[in-house]
Amino acid sequence: MMRSKEYGMNTKFMKRWKMNKFDSVIIGAGPAGLICGATAAKRGKRVAIIEKNTLPAKKLRITGKGRCNITNCADIQTFIENTKTNAPFLYSAFYSFTNDDAISLFNDIGVKTKTERGGRVFPVSDSAHTVADALVSYAKKCGAEILTDNVKNIIIKNNSVQSVLTSGGKKIQSDSVAVATGGISYPATGSTGDGYKFAAGAGHTIIAPKPSLVPMVVKEKWIGDIMGLSLKNVQVSLFCANKQLFCDFGEMLFTHFGVSGPLILRASAEIENIGSGLDLYIDLKPALTAEQLDVRIVRDFNALPNKNFSNSLNLLLPKKLIPVIILRSGIEPYKKVHQITKTERELLVSEIKKFHLKIIGTRPINEAIITSGGVCVDEINPSTMESKLVKNLFFAGEVIDVDAVTGGYNLQIAFSTGFLAGKHI
Ligand SMILES: Cc1cc2nc3c(=O)[nH]c(=O)nc-3n(C[C@H](O)[C@H](O)[C@H](O)COP(=O)(O)OP(=O)(O)OC[C@H]3O[C@@H](n4cnc5c(N)ncnc54)[C@H](O)[C@@H]3O)c2cc1C
Repeated sequence: MMRSKEYGMNTKFMKRWKMNKFDSVIIGAGPAGLICGATAAKRGKRVAIIEKNTLPAKKLRITGKGRCNITNCADIQTFIENTKTNAPFLYSAFYSFTNDDAISLFNDIGVKTKTERGGRVFPVSDSAHTVADALVSYAKKCGAEILTDNVKNIIIKNNSVQSVLTSGGKKIQSDSVAVATGGISYPATGSTGDGYKFAAGAGHTIIAPKPSLVPMVVKEKWIGDIMGLSLKNVQVSLFCANKQLFCDFGEMLFTHFGVSGPLILRASAEIENIGSGLDLYIDLKPALTAEQLDVRIVRDFNALPNKNFSNSLNLLLPKKLIPVIILRSGIEPYKKVHQITKTERELLVSEIKKFHLKIIGTRPINEAIITSGGVCVDEINPSTMESKLVKNLFFAGEVIDVDAVTGGYNLQIAFSTGFLAGKHI
């Protein structure tokens, strides 16, 4: 493949091209690998990005429910605060390629962006495919060659990278290799944990991968009865014994196994150990204090005093939740509302303000939005993303032991670390 005139073709490049030797092989054409490859190619390097899927950036195409939350418009300190694992390691990366750099790059390559609630940046097209396609075109335009193959091994001699071996038995020579293979979640997109094997083979420590931003499993078996119910503007708090791990407002969803949705995924990032179970409390009416809610209930009861209790909550709660709340309140369903006592009302208010579920697990890692864990950051130079153990071996993106909450922060990690690796290859 010829490099575009725009970036020139020097003698060294010509020679390498004839020998089929690369300055750098990037393993993985996800967001980290594509930015890394584009940045290195722009510097005049002969770059091959090797991707095992025929369609590059498969995971990127399903991000943000198909809309791709590209980054966040927050300041760098907020990026650091929202990074759950090894935030200090990312200072150099975040400063070298900022969220503003990402937004300008996407604007330059034809992806106009817009900012939504919580500073989340999305493409105006609302399509993750436009983001992925633009990144692939950009990498190619910068001169990177995208090859479809499955890398099986990295050959290292005298503590320096030599070549990579592919599943077809092909040996591709390269002076440097960047591992941008992603984590181990959503394996159907191609991230099957291969990078951990490559890194371990090179002597790196792998911090055991675990799911982050993942739905939670509850003990209550009846949960399946309210499957599909989604709640907006609720407050969720998560406790481990008496220690509060998380508390925030937003949206959540009941599933056949438990709970999911943005609030729950965010809360899951705070779980370290489930142990004998965690306590999840949902405040179904966070805008009202317990006293205000009681006043509201009394008003509803007074309006139709001869109604059965079972028919009295339609204006207050979603239909699917009513039978559960009635059962849990302990109030007899056919009792006339004017007969309900103050103590019974207190029980009702408590159920609505502190709807309790016992969390007994998370869904498996293949259902997690993010893999927490990966290549230990102590063994990677944070200013270059180069291995401290093997010369010319680089890491970028989710394969590294860094992860953040939702909001566009994880893709920015991929872009920033990919850029830094591409700059130093
Ligand atoms: C459903 C979902 C929604 C998400 N939404 C958002 C969002 O809106 N915003 C956000 O910031 N983050 C989001 N994320 C997280 C984000 O997608 C990841 O953090 C990001 O894709 C990581 O980029 P990466 O390049 O490191 O890895 P990946 O995107 O996983 O790319 C790695 C690539 O390497 C390839 N590969 C792996 N092994 C080999 C091999 N041996 N040989 C050749 N190729 C190989 C894979 O096929 C893959 O294409 C979401 C994740 C999921 C699962």
